[in-house]
Amino acid sequence: EFITVSNLATIMHVPLNKIIKSMEDLGFENVRHNYILEKDNAILIADEFNFEAIVLNANTVEDIFSEPVKPGKLKPRPPVVTIMGHVDHGKTTILDYLRKSSVVEQEFGGITQHIGAFTAITPESKKQITFLDTPGHAAFLKMRERGAIVTDIVILVVAADDSVMPQTIEAIKHIKKTGVPLIVAINKCDKHGVNIDKVVGDLASHDIDVEDYGGETQTVRVSGKTGLNMDKLEEAIITLSEMLELQTEPDGVANEGWIIESKVEKGVGYVATVLVRRGTVKNGDILVAGNTYCKVRGLRDENGNSIKKAGPSSPAQVFGWKELPVGGEFVIQAKDERRARKAVSHRIAREKAIKQREEVEQINEQRSEEVKELARRNKIAEMKMAGLDTSALEKLEDESQCIQCNYIIKSDVFGSAEAIKESINGIGNEEVKANVILCETGALTQSDLELAKTLNAQIFCFNLAVPKEISLAADREGVAIKEHNVIYHLIEDVTTELTSKLKPKI
Ligand code: GDP
Repeated sequence: EFITVSNLATIMHVPLNKIIKSMEDLGFENVRHNYILEKDNAILIADEFNFEAIVLNANTVEDIFSEPVKPGKLKPRPPVVTIMGHVDHGKTTILDYLRKSSVVEQEFGGITQHIGAFTAITPESKKQITFLDTPGHAAFLKMRERGAIVTDIVILVVAADDSVMPQTIEAIKHIKKTGVPLIVAINKCDKHGVNIDKVVGDLASHDIDVEDYGGETQTVRVSGKTGLNMDKLEEAIITLSEMLELQTEPDGVANEGWIIESKVEKGVGYVATVLVRRGTVKNGDILVAGNTYCKVRGLRDENGNSIKKAGPSSPAQVFGWKELPVGGEFVIQAKDERRARKAVSHRIAREKAIKQREEVEQINEQRSEEVKELARRNKIAEMKMAGLDTSALEKLEDESQCIQCNYIIKSDVFGSAEAIKESINGIGNEEVKANVILCETGALTQSDLELAKTLNAQIFCFNLAVPKEISLAADREGVAIKEHNVIYHLIEDVTTELTSKLKPKI
């Protein structure tokens, strides 16, 4: 009866940072995605988000969740790095340089493919770094929104000849908001006459704590074109990642990771790049991601080579998905195919239920607006009867001068319900007007009666029998129900009523 914060976020479909923020407001300290909550605290947080928690015993849980951290199994893992910065400042050039210089290190250099991420080995310390090669903020943000803690470090690229530009500022904002550690790469330092001091000054004025000014953010002067100081940039990443003490369990746990990219490949089917975070993925493993799952039929690295397994921070293309998984989705291993299928169908059902609930909430909101408007009109009428000045209230909306006759339409089929609504809503003038507040198919229910009572509406049932108990309840509560099976007669009925409401003209 424990759950991690990120699992709770997944269940509730609430962004992780929202939960973390709310937990901090509740007084929890040092909350991170893998913070483990006891039952009572999880219920408390679910309640904050208007969920009613039902605690099931582990055997009846329908979804698959992370296992708690196994401290004895933790080993250091390579950092995952994203590159951000203004357009044309050299993100692609830097990534290409890093990719090429690392391909040279490979024994079996195949044709390098863009699979959304690649691994580089540092020239000096021979350490591994994984770069996400979908530069741009959109991909980064999409993942963060889903609560994906994919990136450990961001490299902010700023061109020395252009300095801080709008997208640099935007990137700084995102980085600050998400709190991901940062290294600045001042690029194009091979160019003559560039003013690097100005760039450093501009960064400082945008709240970047640059080391040149005694701060902690490393700034490396590089050139993606000539390769100047690219080794220094890589070593800066390693230094920072060692400070961050990035760790994971490379084995002995259910595999976990993230979908980086996915596509349909001719003759192969659905392929997704998975960045493993815990464990090691191999052939035959069953992986669940969002609303789909996969029995791993094959793995391939970024050089197109077939591989037997992919460990932490090693991106791999994974074959065998039943449907195309969505980028940014969390990946988790299931014990067997039966569990995977069960989890997927549970997730689909849950999503549907959440959608339905949102729709109901929207309708309720709409209804409460209508109730408010009615209250305002009643107030005006009351004040008028008491001989008070109502001009201020009336000015709010000219329409309030007009008497509104509210109707609820229930019909056997959608077509006639719509037709009735269209013809009725047009009837009236500036003094009196017909107003359809609800137009639905299906039998008349108690909640329709309640709505009619609250909004002082009449009910029209078209080609529908009124259930006996509803008819009795309507009599008791003074709600008028009229039955029709000819649209023309129904409209006539409305017109007669509206005419009767017109003030007699002298
Ligand atoms: P991105 O939009 O940030 O990915 O920028 P690109 O990598 O496409 O680079 C934009 C332009 O700047 C290209 O014409 C590159 O050749 C050039 N460029 C990138 N890095 C350097 C560099 O270090 N020095 C010089 N002189 N030009 C560079």
